[in-house]
Amino acid sequence: MVFGIGALISLAHKGFEPVTEADAAVVAEQLGRPPRGLRAVAARCPSGHPSVVQTHPRLEDGTPFPTLYYLTCPRLTSLVSTLEGNGVMREMTARLDEDADLAEAYRSAHESYLADRDAIEPLGTDVSAGGMPSRVKCLHVHLAHTLARGPGVNPFGDETMELLADLWPSGDCAAR
Ligand SMILES: [Zn+2]
Repeated sequence: MVFGIGALISLAHKGFEPVTEADAAVVAEQLGRPPRGLRAVAARCPSGHPSVVQTHPRLEDGTPFPTLYYLTCPRLTSLVSTLEGNGVMREMTARLDEDADLAEAYRSAHESYLADRDAIEPLGTDVSAGGMPSRVKCLHVHLAHTLARGPGVNPFGDETMELLADLWPSGDCAAR
């Protein structure tokens, strides 16, 4: 079964939920290590497991953890890695120089990301993640941002989702 982009978003974007013990256990399995700084489940796969978690801006020991939205589903991370391997990030970065509207939307994504993080705890830095606002360096970050916040916030997260729409894990993308 192939999901349309609207269905994908509605499946993924139900608002942030508290992390249950079961969610934390699944995320540990997805990452292959104990998750750190979990704050919320920001999106889920059609299978129901977390696909994006929101993390605390600082870990328990005070270490800054600037990546606020983290893609955890191994199926999705693998699909994104394959896409990254095709050189799409170089092409996306190049388009920032040619398309003023895109560059503006990307800067807004950067500012939105920082605003979300600062609302939890300001880290005193304007470094966001994924290369924002001037380069495209990690599509995992951008897809996580789109899944967490819905479409229209991060243009390259939206594009990544569209590029993967036909491959999207449908029923069963279990952690193992
Ligand atoms: Zn999944």
